[in-house]
Amino acid sequence: MAAESCIECDVAIVGAGFAGALIANELGKARKKVIVLEAGDRVPPNINDYMKRFYKATAKVPESPYTPEVFDAAGSLTDPSKVNAGRPTVLSLLPKGGFGDWTDPKQSYLIQKGPRPFASTYDRVAGGTSHWLGTCLRFVPADFKMKTNYPSVPQFVDWPIGYDDVNPWYGKAEEELGVSADVEEQKYLGIQFPASYRYPMPKIPSSLVDLAVADALKSLSADETKFLEMETPPTQIRVRNLPAARNSQPYKNRRACAGNTNCIPICPIQAKYDPTITLNDATSTGFVQIMDRTVASDIVVGENGRISQVNFIRYAGPKTSGCVKAKIYVIAANGIETPRLLLMSKNGGRTANGVANSSDMVGRNLMDHGLDADTGISLSRPADHVGHRGFVRWTVPQQAGRIPYRYRQ
Ligand SMILES: Cc1cc2nc3c(=O)[nH]c(=O)nc-3n(C[C@H](O)[C@H](O)[C@H](O)COP(=O)(O)OP(=O)(O)OC[C@H]3O[C@@H](n4cnc5c(N)ncnc54)[C@H](O)[C@@H]3O)c2cc1C
Ligand code: SF4
Repeated sequence: MAAESCIECDVAIVGAGFAGALIANELGKARKKVIVLEAGDRVPPNINDYMKRFYKATAKVPESPYTPEVFDAAGSLTDPSKVNAGRPTVLSLLPKGGFGDWTDPKQSYLIQKGPRPFASTYDRVAGGTSHWLGTCLRFVPADFKMKTNYPSVPQFVDWPIGYDDVNPWYGKAEEELGVSADVEEQKYLGIQFPASYRYPMPKIPSSLVDLAVADALKSLSADETKFLEMETPPTQIRVRNLPAARNSQPYKNRRACAGNTNCIPICPIQAKYDPTITLNDATSTGFVQIMDRTVASDIVVGENGRISQVNFIRYAGPKTSGCVKAKIYVIAANGIETPRLLLMSKNGGRTANGVANSSDMVGRNLMDHGLDADTGISLSRPADHVGHRGFVRWTVPQQAGRIPYRYRQ
């Protein structure tokens, strides 16, 4: 493999997803020279390629519009070890006997040893946000004090910052993403907004399903929902519209949502925000360069304990290796790939436990939208907390029938 010379810049960012794009754009506006290493393919000039791939896909899964291809030429699930920057897909993470087999890394990409699969995915090229839904919830203040609020759960910790510290930054992010929501409706469980704050756009109108669920909840008695063991009976939960990074009216030269619900995996009219929008702004500053098809492979730590460079492998043409040197490094490669890169970077044994891992917590306690198989309740918060916020997800089949059932009677 040929070696490229080391590139110098102010800030090196690994990952052009949501986090990497926002940081790159702010730094570009501040006239800092930024290099973004991105493992995935180049962002095409328009979404036609993505749309074509999506239309042709036999299985319309979140990953179908994007590369690497979900299926190989023979019609089998792509073996992630045979492509340059693989990733899990919802098909490859299915139980054996379906399309894929989450226990086999040759199919699922992830090596999983626990009893249940982590079955969420992410994408290459502008990250998982390409196929995200656009839901933009703020944390409630209690989320920052989980240990204090739930002392019986040993793994909970309190954050070193609180809601008030992030409140103004939420506003900045909501402006960049273009979030549609109603401030008064979003004031609950201690969520406050700066005086005179308005979301960039009015809320997306309630759907027929929203209205039907709100009616159904009103018609239930507390007894009928006891089985959920929620501190606040669901009958008292108000159905609120979710803040959404979807345009409820034209915003920043993008059209208003047409309501066709194709947000996952791709909005054909870009009414839903995705990071290609911010990446475009970032490169337009003239200070940000995105190196696509470039996989960061090693974080090099110097004798002084500081990062001295990030090594990469580039597959834009014949494979080459290279490195980037910066004053500051940002590893924004997502919840799975960031710890992977940190843990892979052993520096000839000097960081045998990986980089930035004095806590030994890097790569542990991965959490996503866990669902309790019996109740269908999101496990990302304890049940009573879940109940407060209305985070009941009617996605597990037996539960999916329960509340709507009475409504149908
Ligand atoms: C189907 C789906 C729906 C979702 N819906 C929502 C939602 O509605 N609301 C919400 O808040 N969240 C949602 N999420 C979650 C959200 O997409 C992620 O939390 C978010 O994308 C994380 O952003 P990130 O920048 O940390 O990482 P990512 O967006 O994953 O970006 C990481 C980038 O880094 C690159 N990368 C990784 N490793 C390397 C390497 N070694 N070298 C170079 N580049 C590398 C990747 O290719 C990728 O482009 C959803 C996720 C999925 C899968
Ligand atoms: S236009 Fe369709 S795909 Fe785009 S944001 Fe609206 S509902 Fe989603």
